[in-house]
Amino acid sequence: MTKRIGITGGIGSGKTTACRLFEVLGIPVYYADDRAKWLMQNDEQLIQKLKSTFGDQVYNQDGQLDRAYLAGIVFNDRAKLDQLNGIVHPAVREDGIAWDKEHTETPYTLREAALLYESGIYQLLDHIITVTAPEELRIERVMARDGVDAAAVKARIDKQWPEEKKVAMADFVIHNDGQQSLIQQVYQIHQQLIQENV
Ligand code: ATP
Repeated sequence: MTKRIGITGGIGSGKTTACRLFEVLGIPVYYADDRAKWLMQNDEQLIQKLKSTFGDQVYNQDGQLDRAYLAGIVFNDRAKLDQLNGIVHPAVREDGIAWDKEHTETPYTLREAALLYESGIYQLLDHIITVTAPEELRIERVMARDGVDAAAVKARIDKQWPEEKKVAMADFVIHNDGQQSLIQQVYQIHQQLIQENV
């Protein structure tokens, strides 16, 4: 049976980079965060729920999701953020279940999400991989990638679970610290996962 593996880690830890390597090994990856964005733009039912909860202005006149407007509503309002997650997470979960049904001819699949633990989705998966890197390095990498300042990255880090907690709960840990080979670590985990008894 195809095992379902989650892969997570804080912002800038290198989840996506690690997933690209798993893809090179032929493993299908479900990018939950990207998929959530896509669904918010394309899933009619989800769009209606978002409009009725946060107002029609969540979408502009061209029907494009106004991310800045939505972010403004939820950024400093825990209750509103919980409401948003309560709408989006179940839609992504359903979509992920449909995706799983299309990927059964592989020893395992990967589900990449920043908030795999925070959303509770980890409970539905067979094993979890946490990608971790020192905070300074994560900040540097995200600043370079997104062209934002350190404070903006730190503000996002502070909203996620502490890295140590995600490491402690993981079945496999990838140390993406620029010292240990990322490729080797991915390959070793892949070897373990393709063994029947893991
Ligand atoms: P987010 O949570 O924001 O989606 P992420 O965990 O998916 O982040 P990546 O996008 O994979 O992180 O990595 C962040 C940035 O760091 C990217 O620009 C990536 O190319 C770079 N990066 C990741 N790992 C390494 C590495 N080992 N060496 C050099 N650069 C790296």
